[in-house]
Amino acid sequence: MTTAAKQMTIPLTRPLVGEAEAEASRRPIMSGWLTQGPEVAAFEQEFAAYTGATYATAVSNCTTALHLALLTLGVAPGDEVITVSHSYVATANVVRYCHATPVFVDIEPATSNLDPTKIAAAITPQTRAILCVHQMGMPCDLAAILTIAQEHGVPVIEDAACASGSEILWQGKWQKIGQAHGDIACFSFHPRKVITTGDGGMITTNNPEYNAQFRLLRQHGMSVNDRVRHSANQVIFEEHAVIGYNYRMTDVQAAIGREQLKRLPTIVAARRRLGARYQQLLAAIPGLTLPHEPSWARTNWQSFWVRLPDHLDQREVMQGMLDRGVATRRGIMCAHREKPYQRDDGYDLPESERAQDRNIILPMYPQMTDEEQEYVVAMLTEVLL
Ligand SMILES: *Cc1c(COP(=O)(O)O)cnc(C)c1O
Repeated sequence: MTTAAKQMTIPLTRPLVGEAEAEASRRPIMSGWLTQGPEVAAFEQEFAAYTGATYATAVSNCTTALHLALLTLGVAPGDEVITVSHSYVATANVVRYCHATPVFVDIEPATSNLDPTKIAAAITPQTRAILCVHQMGMPCDLAAILTIAQEHGVPVIEDAACASGSEILWQGKWQKIGQAHGDIACFSFHPRKVITTGDGGMITTNNPEYNAQFRLLRQHGMSVNDRVRHSANQVIFEEHAVIGYNYRMTDVQAAIGREQLKRLPTIVAARRRLGARYQQLLAAIPGLTLPHEPSWARTNWQSFWVRLPDHLDQREVMQGMLDRGVATRRGIMCAHREKPYQRDDGYDLPESERAQDRNIILPMYPQMTDEEQEYVVAMLTEVLL
């Protein structure tokens, strides 16, 4: 390290949680109602109101949310689901949970999102759904995706795991991701995302039948939910007409989530300020490519990535940053390169592979100070020179 500046230690991310969440988690504990009770119901209503969706159903995480979304659309063995390989591996795995095949299309390098011009060629008579991702919080081109989907009569699920608080310009108005603009949207509350309940997920939709199905399947296929039975003055016997799952969210998680939702506007504002600042500060580094925010998108910058110049080795740059106290991650990994998805004839996904191999993700969290951010930029400048 050549700089005279004092070394800092900067994590990749850090959840914004504190007294409010600790206090809220006491409520379900002291009340004795610990799972899928009044806190979950309130969190669902508040999340629906926040996104503008008619319905929201809380589940154990975004992976289970996506699984229920696919099952509800009737994705079955032999079906195909069009999606991206360049995503967290859960996006592809949920398709395999249904014994269906993910059909991977390539991404646009500027946004790291699904390239809508590649969808039409991937559609076959077996296509049962399009599973698009708002990657790292950046809204994907829903207008283009929905147009193609509607032409072919294929429903759209939005993997909005990272996109709580992101917005899209829709018919002249800024709307929250999750409205849902597609048929179903799925969110994650893992600590790596912008708001967290430890683990947790939410499914939004405007379709009452889909919503009823999510509620049935998340709780063992049980015909009566706990709140109905609890408040009934008649004895009720439940039925289990379908094979369901235990994908419940606990009331402790939901109580925390309600506090996180209150913080979300502040968190998104802080992240967008830091994102704009990264764009300014990093523009001075030659050879670096920065992410592009389309005019119709407002990302929450769940992750801020940069693309390295071709002559630099990704691992060496990341090690150089780590030696200077700055944590980074490589670009989002491609599912098709992982063992369960490898195939003899390979895949033609050059932009997805380049994004994994050439991008690195820089630290960002709402508590990040300007000094910390300037340190990250200074260290990257030093490593790249
Ligand atoms: C994190 C993530 C998931 C999985 O979310 P969990 O809540 O951890 O199950 C799915 N898709 C994408 C794009 C993600 O980033």
